[in-house]
Amino acid sequence: MPITISPARVWRERIPRYRLVGKRCKKCGRIIYPPRPACPACGSRDLEDVELPRTGTVETYTIIYTVMDGFRDKAPLPIAVVRLDNGARVLAPLTDIDTEEIRTGIRVEAVLRRMKRDGEHGLIAYGIAFRPVLYEQRKQ
Ligand SMILES: [Zn+2]
Repeated sequence: MPITISPARVWRERIPRYRLVGKRCKKCGRIIYPPRPACPACGSRDLEDVELPRTGTVETYTIIYTVMDGFRDKAPLPIAVVRLDNGARVLAPLTDIDTEEIRTGIRVEAVLRRMKRDGEHGLIAYGIAFRPVLYEQRKQ
């Protein structure tokens, strides 16, 4: 029997991920994304939720040509360090872009993308990826 994710579960999982919620260390101020139980800089577990801006700039990137099982349809997979508009850096895949079009300095925005599927009827995992911003609205 195929395993499927119920719509309710997808909905529950979608909101926190799509809103790009990370953690802020209350001791040293480090922004942590994806969220972890402890600060990688100082080890503190005194963290609070912080909503991160969904737009930023590609600071550096690499293109992975050999990918794990379950990600094969993603190869080549570009992975970027994105400097968000609040200065926090996140590591995430790029999507909706040809690998030869990727440059440092391009503007990107977070979108929800299917990341992984185990087999034809397997579990589907969703996560944040960044795509180029084509028409960026000016801030009011
Ligand atoms: Zn810290």
